[in-house]
Amino acid sequence: MALGGDSFDIKTWLHREALALGFYRVGFATCEPFTSEQVRRTEWLTAGGRELFPYLDRADSLEPEYWLAGVRTALVGFFPYARPEAIPGAAPGSLKLSRYLWGPDYHTIMKGRMKMLLERAQEHLPNLKGRVCVDTAPILERQFAVRAGLGWQGKHTLLITGKGGSWGFLGVLLLDIELEPDQPFQGNRCGACTACLDACPSGALSPFRLDPNFCLSTFNLETEQEPPPIVTRMMAATGWVAGCDLCQDVCPWNRSPAWGDPALWGGPSPLHTSPAADLPCGTAQWQKRTRGTALRRVRHRHWIATLKRVMGESGGVSHISLD
Ligand code: SF4
Ligand code: SF4
Repeated sequence: MALGGDSFDIKTWLHREALALGFYRVGFATCEPFTSEQVRRTEWLTAGGRELFPYLDRADSLEPEYWLAGVRTALVGFFPYARPEAIPGAAPGSLKLSRYLWGPDYHTIMKGRMKMLLERAQEHLPNLKGRVCVDTAPILERQFAVRAGLGWQGKHTLLITGKGGSWGFLGVLLLDIELEPDQPFQGNRCGACTACLDACPSGALSPFRLDPNFCLSTFNLETEQEPPPIVTRMMAATGWVAGCDLCQDVCPWNRSPAWGDPALWGGPSPLHTSPAADLPCGTAQWQKRTRGTALRRVRHRHWIATLKRVMGESGGVSHISLD
């Protein structure tokens, strides 16, 4: 879509509105195909990604045009979620659930806000077409974020926004309007640091690569496949029952990160702060406790299998009936 002689500065307006909606950092990227990612992606799929994440095995992930006909610009936003008081495992006797799972389902919140942004923009530009992507299309969000200048992919492969850290979700709004792109982020600021690589309990990380076959999060959130023995052992040893924050916990860029808005994320969740012995085990309890959260996508039987792996080996809560 061409802007014509309209003097309305849509880019400045979008930037300002997105910040007002809770994004910590916002940038604009071009939408040419991510051809330079082809080799790396094929390697990742061949090395196990295809079996573990079959929904990501799509050639059109590299082609923004596939997700919105006539796409010209991607607005990319970093939406912080961490709160100082949300420390996994800090409550006495509790197991660990990733920080990003503590609040209401981020898909719902972010999608709603980005749709609102699009609709408001369309009030100014009625012919504008857009598509909101918040884990709803297998586009390359991190690569888009780098291209939009938001930060770099750290050695743990997650996006780091410099002083804002890495505790955040990425949202992409594809637009069929040509806007001045921001300068892509060049290089990385990891330097000689290897803290994330050293902290990974199961050896899933090598510099700028994550082997999904050995990541705890793969097996306690994404797939019900049987994990390799080292992953099972490390789940039990570390107590991570949903996700794993270890590689981000140790990152120096997360020492004073951008915090999520407490009003947005609600108060402490009983699921995350309850002693392990009080975690929901029955189907009805699980359904009730996970309603409206991102954990809802984990099936009850998967949750139980993880609890068995974690608690069965640690033995501390073996008195709980898990059936
Ligand atoms: S999330 Fe945990 S298991 Fe996965 S790469 Fe990071 S530290 Fe390793
Ligand atoms: S822990 Fe160090 S190496 Fe890993 S992402 Fe952070 S700065 Fe980079």
